[in-house]
Amino acid sequence: MTPMSPAENDNRKVLEQLQALLAGGKVVHAFLFTGSRDARLAVGKALAKAILCEDPAEGAACRNCASCHKFDHGNHEDFLYLDLETAPGNAKTQIGVDGVEALQEQLKLKPFGRRHVAMIEEAHLLNTAAQNKLLKTLEEPAGDSVLILLAEKKEELLPTVLSRCSVYHLEEGGGHTDPELLALARSFFALCAAGALFYRRRDCLKPLLEEKAEPREKALAFLLTLEGICRDVLLCLCKAQNGALQADWPAFEELCAKMDLEALKREIGAIEEANRCLRLGYNVGYTLKKMCLNI
Ligand SMILES: [Zn+2]
Repeated sequence: MTPMSPAENDNRKVLEQLQALLAGGKVVHAFLFTGSRDARLAVGKALAKAILCEDPAEGAACRNCASCHKFDHGNHEDFLYLDLETAPGNAKTQIGVDGVEALQEQLKLKPFGRRHVAMIEEAHLLNTAAQNKLLKTLEEPAGDSVLILLAEKKEELLPTVLSRCSVYHLEEGGGHTDPELLALARSFFALCAAGALFYRRRDCLKPLLEEKAEPREKALAFLLTLEGICRDVLLCLCKAQNGALQADWPAFEELCAKMDLEALKREIGAIEEANRCLRLGYNVGYTLKKMCLNI
């Protein structure tokens, strides 16, 4: 595995950054998320929901208020959405000026709550005229509104658009490749979620503790896989994505229902600490056991 690969730059980290931004009351007017459709929609929607939430905790949507419920049901009055499918006109290969104009008209109306959040999915399909048309809105959005652009690659957008957005590139989280490690990470996560005692968690990690060939590499790969699961749980808790997460793991949704954000943060903290220790050359067995205690 490559050192500090996707875990360093994955969606969970971006979500945490965004939550910290919101918690600090700093709402940027325009965001651009680039990456695969699943990743950009997941993060973009989690952000939109958190911005609209009536009672966000530490920058994350509460999942309980009227706004969060409306968002989940896809009928939030202040959430505006434009993509190729919903854009006016018949040219179904790009989004033209009329799509942007329609969005701008909606943004001029008074929001139901505090502000509008407008999302443009497939922003890479905005034609040049449409992108130019968008510049003014990106610079001075009506009221307190926030624009969230989603695109495959930022190279497909004009530099003038990019310079007006806070740009985040999303990685597809890695680590889900080795089926044995994935099974182990899932068992371990399920034990932790169930509040199993230390010795049971430690025993679960026996294959790693007894690994002879490449114990450090195996342990690091395990941590990466475990982090991937935590990230998916976080996305699930943010209700940012439905269905596609850990789709081949029937117990996943039930586990998510048991988790709360605090427990998940603690878990992620313990995994990161273990990751750091292993990279610093600490004893593998000692580090993993310590993680079992702290998780
Ligand atoms: Zn809420």
